[in-house]
Amino acid sequence: MADTVHTGKCLCGGVTYSAVNLTDIWYCHCKQCQHLTGYYIAAAGAKREDITIEGDVNWLPVSDRTKSGHCAACGSYLFWNAADFDTISILAGSLNGSDGLAVKGHIFVSQKGDYYDITDGLPQYDTYPPDGTRPTEEFDL
Ligand SMILES: [Zn+2]
Ligand SMILES: [Zn+2]
Repeated sequence: MADTVHTGKCLCGGVTYSAVNLTDIWYCHCKQCQHLTGYYIAAAGAKREDITIEGDVNWLPVSDRTKSGHCAACGSYLFWNAADFDTISILAGSLNGSDGLAVKGHIFVSQKGDYYDITDGLPQYDTYPPDGTRPTEEFDL
């Protein structure tokens, strides 16, 4: 998706962003995402230098190494950031349009709730996919 500009915003419009070179979307079933949202999430990603954020983002600590970014006015969950990663996760629901983005699969399936099933046939991984960009051994977010 080189050069495709994706834009997004929170519910109230107080925070907006634009990003290039977005990654495709992953569904994350980890407990952090469940606690933050009440369910699993869909998120794309962008390198920090490829995203421009405007507005007042409230970065809240999720763990020692990770933060979630919310609109300071309406509370919309927009971003997730890990100190060790060079990308920021962008909650897919905040995108104004998801042109060209595909869904790659499911991560942290080992932590998913028992009350739902994954039936879309997409790849599933216990933690991160073994593509070399993230640790796949037991990993404490
Ligand atoms: Zn807002
Ligand atoms: Zn997660």
